[in-house]
Amino acid sequence: MSSRCNICGKETLKPWKKKGFLYCSECNFVTTDLDISDEELQRLYTATYFQGEEYSNYVEDKKLIQRNFVGNLERIKNRLPSRAPLNLFEIGCAYGFFLELAKDVFDHVSGIDISHDAIKFAREKMGLDVTAGDYLNMPPKQADVFCMWDTIEHLKHPEMYIKKISAEITDGGLIALTTGDIGSLTARIQGANWRQIHLPTHLHYFSRQALEKLLKKNDFEVVDVFYPGLYRSLDMVAYILLVVHHNQKWIYNFLTRIGILRLSIYANTLDLIFILGRKRTISHLKNG
Ligand SMILES: [Zn+2]
Repeated sequence: MSSRCNICGKETLKPWKKKGFLYCSECNFVTTDLDISDEELQRLYTATYFQGEEYSNYVEDKKLIQRNFVGNLERIKNRLPSRAPLNLFEIGCAYGFFLELAKDVFDHVSGIDISHDAIKFAREKMGLDVTAGDYLNMPPKQADVFCMWDTIEHLKHPEMYIKKISAEITDGGLIALTTGDIGSLTARIQGANWRQIHLPTHLHYFSRQALEKLLKKNDFEVVDVFYPGLYRSLDMVAYILLVVHHNQKWIYNFLTRIGILRLSIYANTLDLIFILGRKRTISHLKNG
């Protein structure tokens, strides 16, 4: 693996706190040297990923997941270009829960996801215009808003996605994304034990600085940044803590049986970042 940083393009990567992880101090960016094929990646995101592996039950948590999307959609609405019609395209749309909300705001919404199982659900059960596959292999897709929720950290080449979006987005269009912030206080205190550090699904770890750099490099002006809190079902929290991290499925099963995991809680750990960029128009670019 080369020592070239995906963000600044310089030969700056040095070993980080954990084996297999590399760090660029110029960008405050952590990446991994995992050599994973497209086929292997594809196999990670089957139905079991959303039901039992990374999530306990994504479909059952639909209401909660949508509640978490409302704030992101509001932020986008505040910055929309004043023209019509407006199209939104989501990369990593999973079961289509965000697209279902966005339908009320946009004239057309569509999306793509690498998970065939998720796309089948989004198309058949949600009636959405969605495709299974990799956005990088897709013919040019014009849209006014591109979004990626907790997706960029999963991509093998995140910088190529931002570049392709920049080439295809309409003038003054918006890019909106969320991911963990490795520069946050929580992440810095927890270091290699931060809950977002998670192979083989999370391949890159961005800071606010790294995201801003990546967007600016691709002709986006950063117009909004915030740190959203999340509603989580206790079920989801217990599942990640007890089953994924500590392999204590029997405690989890016990808590499920007594019914306590049906409750939900709101928490803000201030380590998830939402960033919104606006594509600079040709006149802006000429003026630097
Ligand atoms: Zn760098």
